[in-house]
Amino acid sequence: MDKRVEKKKHSLGERYAAMSHDLNWETTYQPMDKVFPADKYEGIKVHDWDKWQDPFRLTMDSYWKYQGEKEKKLYAVIDAFAQNNGQFGVSDARYVNALKLFIQAVTPQEYYAHRSFANLARNIRGDELRVACQMQAADELRHFQNQTHTISNFNKYFNGMHNAPHWFDHAWYLSAPKSFSEDVMSAGPFERLIAISFSFDALLTKPLFVSYMSGAAHNGDLAAVTVSFSGQSDETRHMTTGIEAVKFLLAQDAANLPIVQRWIDKWFWRGYRVMTMAAMMHDYMLTKHTTSWKEAWEMYVEPVVESLFAELAVYGLRKPKGWAQACDGKEHISHQAWNVFYGYNESTAFHTWLPEVAELDWLSKKYPNSFDRYYRPRLEHYAQLQAQGERFSNHTLPMQCQTCQMPMIFTEQNSPRWIAYRETQHQGETFHFCSDHCEEIFTNEPEKYVQANLPVHQILQGHCFNPDANTTAADFNATSAVLDFCQIKQGRDNDTYPGSEDDVNFTSWGGGQDPQEAQL
Ligand code: ZN
Repeated sequence: MDKRVEKKKHSLGERYAAMSHDLNWETTYQPMDKVFPADKYEGIKVHDWDKWQDPFRLTMDSYWKYQGEKEKKLYAVIDAFAQNNGQFGVSDARYVNALKLFIQAVTPQEYYAHRSFANLARNIRGDELRVACQMQAADELRHFQNQTHTISNFNKYFNGMHNAPHWFDHAWYLSAPKSFSEDVMSAGPFERLIAISFSFDALLTKPLFVSYMSGAAHNGDLAAVTVSFSGQSDETRHMTTGIEAVKFLLAQDAANLPIVQRWIDKWFWRGYRVMTMAAMMHDYMLTKHTTSWKEAWEMYVEPVVESLFAELAVYGLRKPKGWAQACDGKEHISHQAWNVFYGYNESTAFHTWLPEVAELDWLSKKYPNSFDRYYRPRLEHYAQLQAQGERFSNHTLPMQCQTCQMPMIFTEQNSPRWIAYRETQHQGETFHFCSDHCEEIFTNEPEKYVQANLPVHQILQGHCFNPDANTTAADFNATSAVLDFCQIKQGRDNDTYPGSEDDVNFTSWGGGQDPQEAQL
């Protein structure tokens, strides 16, 4: 009788090793340093890549299978949303402006992250980390596509979404996220990893992808929620890669500590500044309120940072330099941002509005330490002006910080009546900053940041007009010429929401009712 041959089954660990580590080889035709020219110049020392442990041990074949299943579920929901005219089922179409800002400011960053990680997958010597980066590159591309597909359904019915990539390149308020992404892409490979996987993904993104998105559910936007949940399991993997990367680099060589610490100081602060827009979306653009930005920060950022850095203290790492100031900012930044976007609304591609009394009351309740004292009177003053037919508007453009490129709207730590301004001289020129941290980032790498392309400077230097604009004509209007160049239609794509084309359309289409009953 034939003896049955037992089919040898690999353990998960063996299978993972066979599909990652064992596929690697040392090059012989060319020295390894020539094949991987980018992973040494930052000063990071790695002695033994075999010490890298990927806790997920995900192989490429199971990755595609797993992601494919998620895609099927996601597109079934997106399809159902479109079939049922879900866009008319959102509680209040002011909320759609959060989606506009999302596709203008967040979605393009996913694409940049995809490119960054594809580059990392090529340029880092450690094989298992390369596999993780390759998966992250595919994840980020998927996020870009998923978000674009979901929001495209709204684009058919609402203004302000039709030209997001062009705005990302030219609109002044989008240069903060754009410069963040370009700063990442032009950094060395290890810095890039710490910037995105650790400082952004592990420390900062949960308020956007968990808290803000559960808010989207309360506003009736199930498609956005599903996209976020589909992406969240990827984010968990990215965060773990970031945390493992920090531990690995610190364990490899003591000389890595000051380098990694400086990157964490820098990228926590840069990420925090970009998150200002998420803060504003939480408090002002989710029209059915759930958690405030302050609560989201206290729930999703503070405990994570505190426990993570307690764990990392054994390596000599401390919390990011800007941490205390960022925690102080939870009382203020959403209100400061909404104020600036309300005032400069004529040069943006989304609507703003003054919160209704019940919304002001909600903000007063959520921000007992700051809202009534600093921000509510200003909004009520704007409401008085608006009632007199004099909507407050800044007919200029804000000054931008040379580093984070946010408008200079932030106040001094513990002194919310004082706008923070810093200035530095470099090679005979003066540069301006929103904070000590942005100034320090510049001072550490002035060669990089003197090159910043600040849209407001570009506009004032006359570089943002269409070629046929007649700048010497007597009736030349610089603001409308810039808006023409940016392809933003004044009054249609921006300005006050009540009475806008979006508002009129949404009401006439039966928006806000049961989607089944909406006419169309
Ligand atoms: Zn700044």
